[in-house]
Order: sequence, then C-alpha cells, then structure tokens
Amino acid sequence: MQIKSAKFVISNTDPAKCPKSDRPEYAFIGRSNVGKSSLINMLTQHKKLAKTSSQPGKTQLINHFVINNEWYLVDLPGYGYAKVMRNQRNKWMGFIREYMLSRKNLYCVMVLIDVRLEPQELDMDFMNWLGVSGIPFAMVFTKADKLGKTQLDKNLAAYRREMLKSWEELPPQFVTSATSEAGKDEILDFIQQINEG
Ligand code: GDP
Repeated sequence: MQIKSAKFVISNTDPAKCPKSDRPEYAFIGRSNVGKSSLINMLTQHKKLAKTSSQPGKTQLINHFVINNEWYLVDLPGYGYAKVMRNQRNKWMGFIREYMLSRKNLYCVMVLIDVRLEPQELDMDFMNWLGVSGIPFAMVFTKADKLGKTQLDKNLAAYRREMLKSWEELPPQFVTSATSEAGKDEILDFIQQINEG
C-alpha cells in the first residue's frame, strides 16, 4: 500500500465521541516508550503525525487519523509506565476496554512489543484479554535494529514459546524498526489485504 494521505481527525478520552465507525480501523498500542509514535510516523511517512512524548504515560488520548481517506489508524495511550498510579491505570483500562469493545470496525489491534525485552507480564495479560474478548490482534516487535540477528531470533523465539503456553496458534507477527523501516511494507500490505476483504 502506498500512503497518499494521512490526516489527524480527533483526540478523545471518551470512546463515545470517537468518529463514526464507518471505515476499517487499526489501533496501535503498547507500553510507554515502546516506539509507538516512531512506528506510526514511519508507517505514514510523516515526521510528526504521532507526537513522540517526552513524558511517557502523560497523554491519555485516543487519537484518530484517516489514511488515504480509506481507513483509520488509531494511536492509543501507552500502558504500564511505572509512575502511572494504580487508579490511573484502572481508568486507562476502563476507557481502552470500552473503546475496543465498542468499535465494530476495529479489524486488528497492533500490539507493540520492545523486542529487546524478555516477555513481559503486562503485554501477555493484555493479549490474553484481547483473545478472550474476541478482538483480533497482531504482535509488532519494535526496535529490531538494536539487536544482532542471533539475539533477535532468540528473543522472538522466547516470545513465541511464551505465547504458545496459552494459545494454540500464534497471531500474525511483524518485526520492525523505525530507523531502518523494516516491517513497513509487511504491515501496510497486511492492512491492505484485510481492507480488500
Ligand atoms: P512511544 O512512547 O511508544 O510513542 O515511543 P517513541 O516513539 O517516542 O520512542 C521512544 C524512544 O525509542 C525514542 O527515543 C525513539 O527514538 C526510540 N525508538 C523508537 N523506535 C525505535 C527504533 O525502531 N529503533 C531505535 N533504535 N530507536 C527507536
């Protein structure tokens, strides 16, 4: 898929005020600092579409962008930042849950995972929740350029092993780097294929 246009639509904390669910929608989510803004900017070829936040965990907004006038890319707040208080975290889960369960055109949640880390309980818990809620998702590994091939393969294998403890099959997976643009065509083609049904 070629990106011809990428436009900001609206930011919200209230899922009810998001744009009408009238196009295919893909939401990007992950722990704070995972590289979500960098990945969104890389995918859309915009240096500043998603704002890279200097204060992780601060922006708690659902941001809708419309791509090629055809589908929504949604930038969701990061989770799991240590300084976010427990009650704030619960609030986060509340409106994210509500958003995810209410969007009938949410075709896939892209769960971003820092490939340098060993499998994290928060990410596993979140993917399990998506699974039991029947929300399709894909795993998007970020910052692949920071590892050599041997370590990269080892970390990916560790994630797959961990997933297979609770899943019979693995979700789609993408290995990406905002620096080298690895994974860009794969993700855009994946979205295009789903859009074309
Ligand atoms: P967000 O909080 O998830 O939106 O994360 P950001 O996109 O702001 O990225 C957090 C930090 O990781 C920044 O310093 C980025 O420059 C860096 N970063 C993000 N993606 C990559 C990547 O693919 N490769 C490398 N080397 N650094 C990255």
